[in-house]
Amino acid sequence: MRIGHGYDVHRLVPDRKLVLCGVEIPCEKGLLGHSDADVAVHALMDALLGAAVLGDIGRLFPDTDPGFSGISSLTLLDSVMELLLSRGFSVGNADITVVAQWPKLSGYIDEMRSVLARHLRVSPDRVNVKATTEEGLGQVSTQGIAAHAVVLLEEKRNKAVNL
Ligand code: MG
Repeated sequence: MRIGHGYDVHRLVPDRKLVLCGVEIPCEKGLLGHSDADVAVHALMDALLGAAVLGDIGRLFPDTDPGFSGISSLTLLDSVMELLLSRGFSVGNADITVVAQWPKLSGYIDEMRSVLARHLRVSPDRVNVKATTEEGLGQVSTQGIAAHAVVLLEEKRNKAVNL
């Protein structure tokens, strides 16, 4: 088994859609970024790549590439999963924490879990999504949204003996 951690932050700005864990959330502001800026999926991809020792999303999907402009982060997640599956990895479980002062996310958690599970190719009972504020004390969570992700990958046994 392999463990990986990912962390990301994006700034909240007017006139952008807010997409978190692949779910569009009604909000007067959205996250700024080259893609759809889904900060939670970005953290999740970095955790997956970290566990597989395959670098990070900045290396895989550089923001200097116009091909990734406005792209759904779920499409990028599908590419990451293809890469992992081709290397003999599958997802054991994933745990994501979204750090946001607002909006309130509790009503969207189940849909987020089910969207992510489909893209991770596991059942929703292997994907946990939590949301927390920082009690108004965090500089990041009042001006943007942050996300942490931890994943466990399972690796086919015969991959390890070729070292
Ligand atoms: Mg990002």
